[in-house]
Amino acid sequence: MQKCFRDRMLDFFYPPRCPVCDRVLAAGTEGICERCSIHVEYIREPKCCCCGKPLSDEEEFCSDCRGKSHSFLQGNALMLYDSLMQESIARFKYSGRREYGRVYAQELYRRYGAWIRRVGAQMLIPVPVHRSRRRKRGYNQAEIIAQHLSGYTGIAMRNDMIVREKATLPQKELSAAERLKNLEGAFCAGRGREVLNQLPECVIIIDDIYTTGSTLEACSKVLRGIGIDRIYFLCVCIGKGC
Ligand SMILES: [Zn+2]
Ligand SMILES: [Zn+2]
Repeated sequence: MQKCFRDRMLDFFYPPRCPVCDRVLAAGTEGICERCSIHVEYIREPKCCCCGKPLSDEEEFCSDCRGKSHSFLQGNALMLYDSLMQESIARFKYSGRREYGRVYAQELYRRYGAWIRRVGAQMLIPVPVHRSRRRKRGYNQAEIIAQHLSGYTGIAMRNDMIVREKATLPQKELSAAERLKNLEGAFCAGRGREVLNQLPECVIIIDDIYTTGSTLEACSKVLRGIGIDRIYFLCVCIGKGC
C-alpha cells in the first residue's frame, strides 16, 4: 500500500512494529511479521451469520445471537482474541502503542474491504471512550483504527455521533449481566447529528474487541435512536462462539 505523507511522518515518530510480537520491523516491511502471521488465528468460516464469531460447527448463529435480535445487522472481526492478541491489544490500549492501529486497519481493509463496499457504508464510527479515559490514555484506540480505515476506504470517520457519558468499569471484569447493567445510559447521541445536513443511511461501528457484544449493542441503539437504520460493525478481535 502506498504511504501518504502523514503515514511517513508517523513512521518517523512511531517506527512500524509487528503488533503481535512488538518487534520493530525491518525497513520496507510492514504489517504482521512473517513469524507471527503463522500463529495468529484469522477468523474463517464457519462463523456466526450475525456477529461473526468463529464456530466449530456449521451452525447459522452462535449461542449469543440465536433467537436474539440486535440493533446492528451484522458484523465481522479479523482475529481470534487468544493470548497472543490479548497481549497485543493490551499494549495498543494501555502501553501507548498507537502505531498498531494502522496495521489493524490495513488488515481489516485487506480482509473486509470488499464487504465494506458491498454493505454500502457511508460513515465509520468508532466506539467512544469516556473523556477521562481519553485524557489518561491520550487517545481512543477505536478511533485510531477508524481513522486509518477511513484513509484506506475513503469513507468519512466521525467521532461525534456517539458520546460516552458515563465512565464505566472495564467490561472484561464483569459477567454478561453485569456488563449490560454497567452500560446502562453509558452512551448517548453526540452533536454530529445536529451538524450534519443529512444522516447516513448505513454506518460501520469500529471497535478493538467484541466479546458479549453489549458495547456494540448499546452504541447501535443510540444510532438507531437518531434514525440510522443500517448498522454494521468491524472489530479487530472476537471471542470464540459456541
Ligand atoms: Zn511479529
Ligand atoms: Zn453471534
